[in-house]
This record gives sequence, structure tokens and C-alpha cells, in this order.
Amino acid sequence: MRSVDSDFLSLTSLEARTLEAVFERMFPADENGAGAVQIGAARYVDRALAGAYADRIIDYQNGLAALSTESRHRFGKVFPEIAEEQQCEIIRDLEKKCLLEFDGNRFFELLRSHLQEGLFADPEYGGNRDKLGWKFLRHPGVWLENSAEENLTDKEVDKGGKIQSLGDLGSNWKIRQEPVNGYDPLRGSLPPSTEVDVILVGVGSIGAIVAPIFAKAGLRVIGLEPGPYRRNGDYLPDELGAAYYCRANMGPKFASEIPRWRRAENEPTQEATFSLGRMMNSVGGSMIHYGAWMRRFHSHHFRMESYISDRWGTNVLPERCRVADWPVSYEQLEPYYTLLEEQIGIAGDDTNPFVQRSRPLPMPATRPFRLGECFREATTALGLHPHPVAVGMNTRPYRGRPASTYTAWSNGFGSYTGDKWDPSLTCVPEALRTGNFDLRTQCRVIRILSDSEGHVDGIE
Ligand SMILES: Cc1cc2nc3c(=O)[nH]c(=O)nc-3n(C[C@H](O)[C@H](O)[C@H](O)COP(=O)(O)OP(=O)(O)OC[C@H]3O[C@@H](n4cnc5c(N)ncnc54)[C@H](O)[C@@H]3O)c2cc1C
Repeated sequence: MRSVDSDFLSLTSLEARTLEAVFERMFPADENGAGAVQIGAARYVDRALAGAYADRIIDYQNGLAALSTESRHRFGKVFPEIAEEQQCEIIRDLEKKCLLEFDGNRFFELLRSHLQEGLFADPEYGGNRDKLGWKFLRHPGVWLENSAEENLTDKEVDKGGKIQSLGDLGSNWKIRQEPVNGYDPLRGSLPPSTEVDVILVGVGSIGAIVAPIFAKAGLRVIGLEPGPYRRNGDYLPDELGAAYYCRANMGPKFASEIPRWRRAENEPTQEATFSLGRMMNSVGGSMIHYGAWMRRFHSHHFRMESYISDRWGTNVLPERCRVADWPVSYEQLEPYYTLLEEQIGIAGDDTNPFVQRSRPLPMPATRPFRLGECFREATTALGLHPHPVAVGMNTRPYRGRPASTYTAWSNGFGSYTGDKWDPSLTCVPEALRTGNFDLRTQCRVIRILSDSEGHVDGIE
């Protein structure tokens, strides 16, 4: 397959031809449709290396050079010029780490994930030419609403065969943003305040929720947040740029630090996988792209030790496992759950027999979905009592914010309409209105300082 692109920006001609040949072997044209070259997957990577993936250019230069070295060594020609079976042999060995002097498995995984993005991300990013990747998947692209019938059907939702991209939506999804009174994006570059009563390290979910409480009590509060103040209009309805499991441009701090973890002290640490969930770097925090399941703890969760010991005896616990009762009870916390549920706007019903509420949830439960219905039917047949999970999503207009349109972007993304609450929508403006809240974005705290008695007395 000959290249259909000649306008590569980041890759040299040999690198581009090598990448196209690799991608075409991994996703060849066949009777099911176009292959990677025609879909423009290499062009996608080339564009990304000039922008969002600029830090990976060295990986590509080294990896593609290693492929050509290997193919010259084995077959006497550079990679794009050898036969398809020979290319497949080298790619297989790349995956199995069997190349000369090159540990190729990481590069193989990088190629695989970037190939998927180039094939199936919105054409806006330079790949998925003519929506060929979506046509192959029979994916309808970007739609800003789904009907109740579509949510329930067991057939493919094909939107009548129409495939839409971000480009087709034009400005339909865009929201007009008013400036937030009292917020100045440049304040972060000013010299730090010397005396304050409260320092919020991160104006994420909890920092933002407590900001107005302190500020209204007359305390001088400073909030230091490494992300920007994102607003509804910043949340492009787009899986590549806005999803926490892809480029994660919502979590640059998370992505640049690559958190590591281990389960026990004597274990070596390993990179955190996506399953740990990516933190949002932005005023409002991870509630911006969270799943919005808002379950209360059950009453016995607050008295685990007594509960286990009354029911089974504490000797059921594995060795070295400890549990404790909380110093507060469900009954004491219940009014605060209710307060927060009213503020967030929680949708659900009262069919969960394990949770007692002093007031019904403010909104009715979400529409039934096909998957949920399968679960309901299966569990009911087993004699169980399934119930819809309470979610922080507007099932009707709520406090000036619209009802959900049940798009694919209603869960796991920032809401571009405000149908899902996060504290940047209400709490932060409320705190700023007091005049006591000094919000500084693009400010990362690197050290917490303490006095000689170990009390925290400042930050850097
Ligand atoms: C993908 C995902 C899905 C989730 N789904 C659910 C769900 O369905 N239901 C549910 O109840 N919970 C869910 N959660 C969890 C929920 O979002 C978190 O429990 C909640 O956001 C925690 O609030 P927080 O303020 O502690 O942290 P965050 O909201 O993450 O805020 C932390 C803030 O600190 C800032 N920060 C980080 N480092 C620094 C630094 N060095 N200096 C200054 N500031 C810093 C960050 O930029 C961020 O703004 C989900 C989380 C994720 C990531």
C-alpha cells in the first residue's frame, strides 16, 4: 500500500514510511475495509508528536531506527522495502523483545495504543480519514443525545447510518462562558501572601467544597491549584482529549508524574495502571470527570468492629487484619449526607432497603439502560432486590442546570452543559464572592513546612 500522505511534520521520510508499513501490517486493508495507511494512522501519530505527544518523539526515532537496523541486518534492506512476511516476522519479534540490542516490547505497546487512536479517534486529530475507522466499527461518532429507546435497545444504535465528527457538530456543542467574578488566571504569578488562616493545597473536590465554608466564616483562605479553572466550554465532547484513560489532558500533573505504587513494603514499586483512575488537575477536582455514583455508606460500615464481632466473632479476620468502629455514627452524619445530596443534585429512588434517608433524593432515578435491565432481570430471578444506584446527574433541570441528554459524554468526562454538578460550578464562585478567598491556579505545592513541634505552618 502506497502512502496517501506526503505532509509529515515530525517524522523523516524513512521514519514515516517505516511507521506506515508497521501500522499496515498490524491493521491491513482487507475485505472488511481500509487499512491503517488509507485511514491515516501514521499521519495521526506524526501530528501528535508535534503536539500532545512531543515527549515521545525520541521513542519513535529510536524504535523506528531499530526496525530498519534489524531489517538491514536480517534482509539487507530498510524496513519499508522488505516483503510483508518479513515485516511481520520483525514485528512479532519486536513484541517478543527478540530484536538485536533493542528492548522492543514497550515500543510495540506504544505503537499499538497509538495505532488505535489513529484509527478511531475523531478525524480532527489527523487520523480516521473520511471516518473510515468509525465506518469499520459501525460507530456513529459524536452525538449529543440518546433517546430513551436507544438507551434500552439491544440493537446497535446507528443513528440512521449518519456518522458525525466534531467538525460536523461545528459550534453546536459550544457553551458561552461568562467570566467568574473574583477569579484572575494571572494571580498565580503574584508573590505569595504571607499571612493567611487557611491554605487549601489543591482546590479539587474537597478543597473547593470547604472553601466557601471557611471564607463565609470570615477566615482568609488561599487556594493553590496546579490546574486551570476549567469551565463547561472547555469540555470538548471527545474521547481522546477529554477521557482520563487516553491523552488525559485533564490530568497533566498525574500524567507527567506517572504515580507508582506497591501493595507491601518489601515489594518493588510499579507504575500505576489506568484502573486506579486519573486525578483531574483543575479547580473542582476529580468530581469533574468522575462516574458520579453517589452511594452512602451503610449504617454498619461505621461500626465494622462491633458488626463483625457481633455477627461472626473477630476470629474470622485474617491474621494482621484490623478493623475499627468510627468515632461517628451513620445517624450523626445523615443530615450532612442529605445536605450534600441536595447541593450536588442526586438522582435515585428509595428502593435500596439498606439506606435510611431523612428526605427523599431530590431527583428521580436515571432512565433504565439495556445493561442495567439485563442485570435487574438476572438478579431478580435469583431472588435479589436490585435498585438503581444514586447518581449525581440531573434527570431533570435542577437549580439552573439542565437535564442530562444521556450522551456518551454524560459519564467519565467533564460536563459541557452542567448537567453533572461539580464544585467549580457553585462552591468556588460562592467562596470568591465573599472576598476572603484568594484562588491561585497553575500553582503546585511542592513542600509542606512545619514548626519545631511538627505543626504545619506553611507551604512552598
Ligand atoms: C476517574 C474517576 C472516577 C471516579 N468515580 C467516582 C464515583 O463514581 N463516585 C464517587 O463517589 N467517587 C468517584 N471518584 C472518586 C472521587 O472523584 C474522589 O474521591 C474525589 O474527587 C476526591 O476529592 P479530593 O478533593 O480528595 O481529590 P481531587 O478531587 O482529585 O482533588 C485534588 C486536587 O489537588 C490538586 N493537587 C494535586 N497535587 C497538588 C499539589 N502538589 N499542590 C497543589 N494542589 C495539588 C489537583 O490538581 C486536584 O485539583 C472517581 C475518581 C476518578 C479519578
